[in-house]
Amino acid sequence: MLCSRIRTALSARLDGEEPPPGHTARGLDGHLAACADCRDWEARARRLAALTAGRASADDREPGASADALLARLRAVSALPGAEDGDRVGEQAG
Ligand SMILES: [Zn+2]
Repeated sequence: MLCSRIRTALSARLDGEEPPPGHTARGLDGHLAACADCRDWEARARRLAALTAGRASADDREPGASADALLARLRAVSALPGAEDGDRVGEQAG
């Protein structure tokens, strides 16, 4: 089966569309399991789709919502060691 056809079907699936005639989700997964090129392609397509989807939904909602969510995630992920020293830095500078 041609990789280009597989990728067209994968793209449709990422967009939430039905696979083109002749393709099934099982068939696509089977090809991905066997074809590293298409696996790589799908990973990039998926990342791109996630980015564009995130941007679209952020535009739909209030502008600050996504920024707040991002900040919350950053705080949760990176508990900065020096964050509590912020006041002392101010004293030294003054
Ligand atoms: Zn392939």
